[in-house]
Order: sequence, then C-alpha cells, then structure tokens
Amino acid sequence: MFNLNEEQEERAMKIHRKAIVADTHCDTISAWIGAKPRPLGMRSDEGHIDIPRMKEGGLDCQVFAVYTAPAYYDAPLKQAMRMIDAFYSEMEINKESITFCTSHDQIIEAVENGRLAAILSIEGGEPVQGGPGILRMLYKLGVRILSFTHFPRNLIADGSGEMGSKSGLTTLGTRLVEEMNRIGMMLDVSHINEPGFWDIIERTKSPVIATHSNCKALCDHHRNLTDDQIRALADKGGVIHLSYCGGFIKQGVTRDNISEVSLDNWLDHLDHAVKLVGPDHVGLGSDFDGGCGFPGLDNATKIPNITRGMVARGYSDDDIEKILGGNFLRVFKKVVK
Ligand SMILES: [Zn+2]
Repeated sequence: MFNLNEEQEERAMKIHRKAIVADTHCDTISAWIGAKPRPLGMRSDEGHIDIPRMKEGGLDCQVFAVYTAPAYYDAPLKQAMRMIDAFYSEMEINKESITFCTSHDQIIEAVENGRLAAILSIEGGEPVQGGPGILRMLYKLGVRILSFTHFPRNLIADGSGEMGSKSGLTTLGTRLVEEMNRIGMMLDVSHINEPGFWDIIERTKSPVIATHSNCKALCDHHRNLTDDQIRALADKGGVIHLSYCGGFIKQGVTRDNISEVSLDNWLDHLDHAVKLVGPDHVGLGSDFDGGCGFPGLDNATKIPNITRGMVARGYSDDDIEKILGGNFLRVFKKVVK
C-alpha cells in the first residue's frame, strides 16, 4: 500500500499503535437488533465493526450512534430506548474487552487498561423533540453526542436533505443548543442544513464537531461542508471528522461504482481540510455499518491504511496522532463535563 519502504511501514505502525485511534460515527447498533443479529463480540465477514476487527485495526475508541429511521418517526424515543438497551447489553456481554465511557478520563483509563472505549451518540434529534427534559434524561443514560437532524426536517431544524430550505433552528433548536452547552453534551453538525449550521455556530459557546462529513470543495454533496463551514468549525475549536462514504468523497459515486473510490481520494479530502484549518481540526468519522467504506477502507481492520497514507503524504508523527484521535479527545475533554 502506497509503496512505503520498510522504514516508513515500521514508522506508520509505530504511530498507529501509540495513538488513541478514534472514530466518531458508526451505525453498528443497528446490526445488533436486526432479524439476523451480528453480535459485537464475534468476528464477522459481514458489515464493518466488531471487537475482533477493532482490535486488529488498532481502533481504540468508537462512537456508536442511535439512529431512529423514518419508519419509527411515530415514536422515535421508543426506538432510541430499544437501541440504547441493545447498546447496554452488548457493553455488558463484552465488558472484558470494551468499556462504555461517558468522560474523557474514562476513555484514557480504558485504553491504558488494554480495553476498547465506547461512546454513545444520537444521530438525528427526533428522540429529543420532547424538549430539554428528554435531552437531560438521555444524558443520564450516557449519551454524550447529538446531531439535530438526519436528512429530513424535524421540530429542531432542517436536515441537509431538505434541498433549498432556508430554515434555520427552531425555538426548540436554540433552546437545545443552550442546554447542551450547559450540561456538557457535544453538538454534532453533520446532516444539518446550512442555515441551521450557521445558527449553531452563532449560538454555541462550546466547540462543535462534524462526526461524518467531507469537503464540499472536492465533492459537491449536500452532506459535505463548504470551506467557510470548515473554517467556522475550526474557529470555534471544533473538528471535522471525514467519513468513508464514497458518495461524499467522489462526485457521482454510488454503491454500484464504489470501486472507483480510492484511499488517495479520501486523503485528498484530508489534505484539503488540513490546508484550510491545520492539523488540529480534522479527524476520522467512518460511518461504518451505515453503508459506507470503499476498497482499501472497507472495515475496521483497514484503518492502518489511513496511517500509511498519511506517512506517504509526509504528515508528521504528531499530526498523524492528532488526526487519528487526539483532536477528538481534546474537544471531548473540553465539552463533556
Ligand atoms: Zn449519517
């Protein structure tokens, strides 16, 4: 891969082992509750993430998202509870290998003790449309990251799928920004439309992150962020975590022609973001088990290829460590109380 010589390969693997490698978005919880469950502790050839493959790929810290699909919009909180229950069960079953973490110090402690770290997030604000009280109760259950929308509009904001919408945050949306800042929950701007994004930037007192978005300058997809958005995110101290979704990396790519996407294309997004805002504001947000991944980066065991790619492109050891997870951990420590 990348024609690294022996010394470069050794250096890449050394950095990868030393770094706390973090991934800010996956949809793996869905794999645990389907008709044919694929348990977290068992190695599978299907999907992207399980504990054996995380270990093999040196993936230390994984954010697991609760995503309530439109089929559950009549009772999204109920579905979120089912998914959180499944998450708790898998954490209990696999507690020798993985620790459910709700603070920065717990993540460090887990990794130092040779365990993986799991963080719980909610993708799409449908479960918290009942207001700040619901948000606070979900915080008590351990949710530490929340994005306001998926593709469509809800009572909080408009998703980027509402093409051409000029609507920003609703009154509830602005109230939730304040409450998340107050209680120490991370706001995720992936999926929200541009007016909503700018409302968040204007109002938030804490850094915010994008858990799985790429650069619109390289791939004009409504899920990607413009250069101005990436700069604003960085100015607030936040991080854009680049996804492995082919359609966000290369224009016009679908699952049918995913083989046209290469790690070099993904590294172009990394280079672009780093050129814009420096190495302190970029990270990894796979969207594994959410239909993403491409040849060379199609499950958790392949993550070392990212480190190899960064070595090939001349990144320093320090910058590689930050991008692999240091930047996420910095913001998590600052925001989550
Ligand atoms: Zn998503």
